[in-house]
Amino acid sequence: MTLPRGWSLQKVPEVLQQRAGWIRKHLSLLQATPGEFPAHLSRPETAYREEARRYFTQRTRYWAERMGVTFGRITIREQKTRWGSCSRQGNLNFNWRLILAPPPVIDYVIVHELAHRLHLNHSPAFWATVGRHLPDFARHRRWLKENGHRLWQYTGEEKGDVPGG
Ligand SMILES: [Zn+2]
Repeated sequence: MTLPRGWSLQKVPEVLQQRAGWIRKHLSLLQATPGEFPAHLSRPETAYREEARRYFTQRTRYWAERMGVTFGRITIREQKTRWGSCSRQGNLNFNWRLILAPPPVIDYVIVHELAHRLHLNHSPAFWATVGRHLPDFARHRRWLKENGHRLWQYTGEEKGDVPGG
């Protein structure tokens, strides 16, 4: 089996168990050429939103404990200009479309937002916190910059399943 970039070997058995189906989908997404969206991702948008809520809640709990921070509510929405945000009160917003991204990228967004519980800015201290927990975060950040637009290719049930297909 070939590992996607950004996967840590130690985490593989655990993640494989939890997410075998998702891994297959993510691999397909990564291999898809821009402009195409794999047909098997054409579940109704509500299914992705539900998956996003479940997955983000689970991973946020995991990372918050590791980072020693608390958080408030988690809201899943579709923000046009951002993948996530963290309010002063510690309430977190995540864009449901991230569920279509590789798991290490999702972890990066979660760790980024939780790091704002310690630093309400993007100071060197903030990035040091992110880097302490995700040493290769820069790669995931770059993935989002370069491929984030592809997460918008999925248009949900209203407009049909496979854009351009
Ligand atoms: Zn930020």
